[in-house]
Amino acid sequence: MATSASTSYNPASLSAEEFISHEEILETLRYAEENKRNEELIDRILEKARPKYEGGKVRCEGLTHREASVLLACDLPEKNAEMMKLAEEIKLAFYGNRIVLFAPLYLSNYCVNGCTYCPYHAENKHIKRKKLTQEEVRQEVIALQDMGHKRLALEAGEDPLHNPIDYILECIRTIYGIHHKNGDIRRVNVNIAATTVENYRKLRDAGIGTYILFQETYHKESYEALHPTGPKHDYRYHTEAMDRAMEGGIDDVGIGVLFGLDKYRYEFAGLLMHAEHLEAVHGVGPHTISVPRLKKADDIDPAKFNNGIDDETFLKIIACIRIAVPYTGMIISTRESEAVRGKALRVGISQISGGSRTSVGGYAEEERVHDTEQFDVSDQRTLDEVLLWLMRDGFLPSFCTACYREGRTGDRFMSLCKSGQIQNCCHPNALMTLAEYLTDYASEETRETGKALVETELTTIPNERSRTIAAENIKEIYASNRRDF
Ligand code: SAM
Repeated sequence: MATSASTSYNPASLSAEEFISHEEILETLRYAEENKRNEELIDRILEKARPKYEGGKVRCEGLTHREASVLLACDLPEKNAEMMKLAEEIKLAFYGNRIVLFAPLYLSNYCVNGCTYCPYHAENKHIKRKKLTQEEVRQEVIALQDMGHKRLALEAGEDPLHNPIDYILECIRTIYGIHHKNGDIRRVNVNIAATTVENYRKLRDAGIGTYILFQETYHKESYEALHPTGPKHDYRYHTEAMDRAMEGGIDDVGIGVLFGLDKYRYEFAGLLMHAEHLEAVHGVGPHTISVPRLKKADDIDPAKFNNGIDDETFLKIIACIRIAVPYTGMIISTRESEAVRGKALRVGISQISGGSRTSVGGYAEEERVHDTEQFDVSDQRTLDEVLLWLMRDGFLPSFCTACYREGRTGDRFMSLCKSGQIQNCCHPNALMTLAEYLTDYASEETRETGKALVETELTTIPNERSRTIAAENIKEIYASNRRDF
């Protein structure tokens, strides 16, 4: 039985599938179970993870999958409370109170896979199949721009006939080509099925932001049973997708598991091992980690899956990810309710979707349509309502995409984050993009609340020059009066 948190694995010499091995995950779970009340070890792990402040800079070491798994397994209430506090501290140290906003855009729900938890599965004969034409893409994007969105995540099923890579590329070109009076969509992230290095290169050349792909589950046997048919059945091909994406030149990749499919502690260890693998092989870990939970959907009953997790466990998972990989962005979607999202933001989440519709063509419709929807949306508030709520809770909503436009992706972004310069860089950018939103789109209440927040937040920019430039820019933005009303 292992008594040490170190492992004999050499991540750099193994493929993702070899590295994230069933045996190592089981060993990790055994180690975590054995040490879940080992206060001395837990204290040592927490101490290792704590931010270290030196010379005006902050640095965090992060944790291995074994160490983080001990924290996740721990059932000592006072240690768990300490973990939640530590996660909050790390979140504040690297992300401040900024929350980046985005919206998913569903392009097509045609799919040839047989995923047993997804309503887009090929055998579902009663869901309405729809694929956006380029004109419909335009209408969707204009509707999203009219809400104030600048950052999208494209979503599509896998279907080489209906949604081949050329279709996805055409949609990306259309989106970047739509010029809105108040500014264009500046970052298009893409969540499509695992593909070839050549196709990833095409996505890179099209100027995508992050390539997102959820592992769904790291448990190979479950994975194969949950994906009985279609190209997604191939566990190895799916697990090694991020390596191909990086080989194709995509710097930013986003990983995640669908919580509820298999045991959460198993998934948690697999997720962190995946991050370790990417860091070891490519010199940079995942740009983001998403934490979707399985939802009720057409033709899918979550009760069929008996690995659901309660809100408390879910929040602890988020906190433990935050502690283990302090520099990685974390995303939560509108699958979660307002109450859960509010707590999740404190302990780790840095990006949320807002005003989302998960149906193909949903944004151009007045009313929420359900017949092509991927899953039930829990948080159905408008983007403006989400923003007001964030600000009232002390968060600073950000539409910033500057890193991406400046070419600061992958390891260049991580070194900015690690150098502690993010407060002089991200904070002013967040304030300026919020000022744009307030000027161009906000309701009166949101505008008033936002302006007061911007005023206070400007004073927290440490560097005087950055502070002055931001203040001048914001004055100009407020004076620009770009809204027709
Ligand atoms: N088709 C792509 C693929 O195979 O990876 C990705 C697009 S799919 C629209 C995005 C994600 O939705 C999936 O990776 C899955 O994790 C999630 N999803 C599927 N069914 C879901 C459900 N019933 N509840 C919550 N999320 C679900």
